[in-house]
Amino acid sequence: MKETIAERAKLIDASGIRKVFALAAELKDPVNFSIGQPDFDVPEALKEEAIKAIKAGQNKYSQTAGDSLLKERIAERIEKEFGWSRPAILITSGVSGGLLIAFLAIVNPGDEVIIPDPYFVMYKHLVNMLGGKCVFVDSYLDFKLPVEKISEAITNKTKMIILNSPCNPTGAVYSEQQIKALAEIAAEKDILILTDEIYERFCYDSKCTSIANYYERALLLRGFSKSYAMTGWRLAYAAAHECLTNVIEQMTKIQQYTFVCAPTPFQKAAIAALNYETGDFVDAYRRKRDLLYEGLKDKFELVKPGGAFYAFVKAPGGSGTEFVEKAIKNNVLIIPGNVFSEKDTHFRISYATSDEKIQHGVEILRSLT
Ligand code: PMP
Repeated sequence: MKETIAERAKLIDASGIRKVFALAAELKDPVNFSIGQPDFDVPEALKEEAIKAIKAGQNKYSQTAGDSLLKERIAERIEKEFGWSRPAILITSGVSGGLLIAFLAIVNPGDEVIIPDPYFVMYKHLVNMLGGKCVFVDSYLDFKLPVEKISEAITNKTKMIILNSPCNPTGAVYSEQQIKALAEIAAEKDILILTDEIYERFCYDSKCTSIANYYERALLLRGFSKSYAMTGWRLAYAAAHECLTNVIEQMTKIQQYTFVCAPTPFQKAAIAALNYETGDFVDAYRRKRDLLYEGLKDKFELVKPGGAFYAFVKAPGGSGTEFVEKAIKNNVLIIPGNVFSEKDTHFRISYATSDEKIQHGVEILRSLT
C-alpha cells in the first residue's frame, strides 16, 4: 500500500503526553496539575461584547490582518510601550497560529533556531517540520536565561533565537539584565528574536521585561488566551518594529491562505479586553504560586517560579517519567519534563486550579518522596 502520511508528520512524537492522558482517563476526580489554562472564566463584560458582536451580525471574515480598530488600538499600545513609531500588527488565531505562520515565513530548511531548554513544545515541532535544526541551549538548574551559552551556540546558520518569558514550563521570568545582554548579542550578530509573551500579565515579583524595549529586530507574540481565560476564542497578535514590516507582511500572506483571519466577533470583544483591568487574578495566582512553592520546597528541588502558572520540579529518583507514573497512580496529574525538554529529570506542575486542589495535590506529592 502507498504511504499516506508525510514524513514531516512522523517527526512529531506525542507518545509521552499521550501516555499521560491515557493513564489520566482512568482517574476519578484527580488533582489535575496538567492544565495549561487559567481556572477562572472570561469576565462577564467581555462575554457581553462577544455576544453583542455576534447579534450585530459581525460574523463574516475580517480583513486578513485583523479588525482595523483592534489593530489600531494594539499599535497605539506598542508605540507607547516601546516607542516604535509605526509598528506592524497582525491579529492571529492564538499565539499558536502566530507561531505557525511566523515559522513558515522565517525558517528555511537547514536554518538553525536557538531554543532555551526547557521549552514550550510547539517550537521544537515547528522547526523540525520545516526542516530546520533546533539548537537547544540548556537552562538547567536555575532556569535563568543562558545568555553565555546562547552566544556560544550562534553560528552563521543561526536564523532566530526563541525567547519565552514568563516561561512555560519553568515559570521563570528573565531579568532585565539578562534580556539586555541577549539583545546586545543578537544586535551584534544581527539575529532575529521571536519573543513569546503570552504570559506577560502573569508576573508576581517584578515587572516582566520585554526584549522589544532594547531590540528592534524582535518579533513579538502576545495573546488573549491566558490573560482573559479565553483559550477557546483563539485570539492573539504579532507585533513588530517598522524594520520588520516585511516579516509581518509575509505572515499576513500566509495567514490569508491558511487561517484566513482570527474569529471576527471575538476580535470585536478583544477591543474591549484591551481596556479591561484584570489585576485581581494576579494576586490570586501569586497566592497559588506561594501555596505550591511553600508546600513543596522542603521536600523537592525547585526554583521559585516568578511567572506564568507552572513550576518545574526535579523528580525524586531522577526520572521524570517514572515519578509522573507514580503520581498518576496516586491521583495527581502532572507532566513529565521530557515533553518540554531533551532531558527527563523533572516534571511540570500547573497550579491553575483551586487553592483546595493545590493543597490536596501538595499533600499527595509530599507523600511520594
Ligand atoms: N506559547 C506558550 C508559551 C504557551 O504556553 C501557549 C499555550 N499553552 C501558547 C503559546 C499558545 O497559546 P494560544 O494559542 O492559546 O494563544
